Amino acid sequence: MIYTFEDGYPSDYEVKNTILEIGRRMYTKNFVASNDGNISAKVAPNRIWCTPTGVSKGYMTDDMLVLMDLDGNVLKGSWKPSSEIKMHLRVYKENPKINAVVHAHPPAATSYAIAGLPLNRAILTEAVMGIGEIPLAPYAMPGTEEVPESVAPFVNTHNGCLLANHGALSWGKDAMEAWMRMESIEYYAQVSMYTRGLIGQANELTCEQVDRLIERRTNSGITTGGRPLCRNCGPDGERACEAGKSCSCHPAEGGSCTCSCVRPAESGKADEAALVAEIVSSILAAKGYR
Ligand SMILES: [Zn+2]
Repeated sequence: MIYTFEDGYPSDYEVKNTILEIGRRMYTKNFVASNDGNISAKVAPNRIWCTPTGVSKGYMTDDMLVLMDLDGNVLKGSWKPSSEIKMHLRVYKENPKINAVVHAHPPAATSYAIAGLPLNRAILTEAVMGIGEIPLAPYAMPGTEEVPESVAPFVNTHNGCLLANHGALSWGKDAMEAWMRMESIEYYAQVSMYTRGLIGQANELTCEQVDRLIERRTNSGITTGGRPLCRNCGPDGERACEAGKSCSCHPAEGGSCTCSCVRPAESGKADEAALVAEIVSSILAAKGYR
């Protein structure tokens, strides 16, 4: 039986069954290799069930699960909890509304995490409305405090993140929601890889389309997820259109861009590009090419 988090906390039985089911899905979908990955979910404000270390998540039995408090103390269970549980505890600490956390190493999302690229382009309507943009948490040494520190900034604003050179993390109001978000992250990464990498073209959504999707997302009660970059945004988030200036994504409105995705250009990068252009031009001039 799969519970959804609607009428208070689910029972131990429900949570444990859901964790075992997610473990099986995670393993059969190739989201983890060997004994990788971990899952946790709350049964009370200060109680979580979590997966053990050193076990394939596809073959867990309920006696292997560990009950812990949010300070990391084991309350029940003879198995050792996951070594990555600190990351889960930090997510719960940062945002008490979160009731479940899922961590996996799905191949496409992990490839983006290795490439150092967030999933932040508006290419899929479902992704904009469902999970939003997926930021990249900076590299952190496994097993250290760097790992929880690296994810903390995203816990109140997003629905999951990539972990540089490692994998992906998602969270939600219940274990199934956290798992579904992990599936959506991997799907978003796969489609990004096909369109941008293999096909070499992605017709990204316009600012206006993204505005409307986010409005619908907000109306459906999801206030986290950030904002993926629309067609007019450059690879680093700098915008081709600037607030109040001409904007090709709003031709019907007389070209004045007022959309909320306008982000300040990274002045350091702009300065650097201008400097490089200046140097190149002076070298060319010195050599008599200009
Ligand atoms: Zn991991």
